[in-house]
Amino acid sequence: MDIYNKILETLDSHNGQLVAVSKTKPQEAILSLYDKGQRIFGENRVQELVEKHQDLPKDIQWHLIGHLQTNKVKFIAPFVSLIHSIDSVKLLKQVNSEAEKCERVIPVLLQFKIAEEATKYGFDMQTAIQFLESDLFSNLKHIVIVGVMGMATFTDDQDQVKKEFQSLKNIFDQLKEKYFKYEPSFKEISMGMSGDYQLALAEGSTMVRIGSLLFGHR
Ligand SMILES: *Cc1c(COP(=O)(O)O)cnc(C)c1O
Repeated sequence: MDIYNKILETLDSHNGQLVAVSKTKPQEAILSLYDKGQRIFGENRVQELVEKHQDLPKDIQWHLIGHLQTNKVKFIAPFVSLIHSIDSVKLLKQVNSEAEKCERVIPVLLQFKIAEEATKYGFDMQTAIQFLESDLFSNLKHIVIVGVMGMATFTDDQDQVKKEFQSLKNIFDQLKEKYFKYEPSFKEISMGMSGDYQLALAEGSTMVRIGSLLFGHR
């Protein structure tokens, strides 16, 4: 069995979804996975995402997974299926306003800082709570928050990675209970990459973002 089917089988047993991370990979590589039935692809740069969306089949669902600058939101707002990397209120406001221009409601995930490294983007719990309790949040009619996303520390220490995944699951559970209890659309936990997706699924991930395992090293 090839690696794609092995990943799908693991995902099936956890009810998880695969985001095939195709950043830096040529269109032929994407098409060959598309031919096997894959429809969700993730990119981390806006320009690459726009170009691939233009050139590739229109039933691909494109996810943005990397840091997004506010001045670039307008380029992806017309078509993006899910933005994983909402890391500030300012960015979320911008997504809302560009979505409104396109007469869309754009699904997004709130990215949380779960890694030890100080460089990772994302919300902390306090900022998220402040925002979710604000009038501003209830007035954003063109975004829908469907869950959370996080990236674990890049380390071989499985215990640490596991702890970080558990912290994101815990954040999800708290937010679900307090702010999204009656909103079935709030259900996604985007965590897990090539090296740690099985661990992530065991800890409650609903969406794994896998690149190098599928497409080879970048
Ligand atoms: C590149 C990337 C991935 C995929 O990483 P692999 O180790 O190649 O599976 C997942 N998430 C984000 C945010 C990325 O930038």
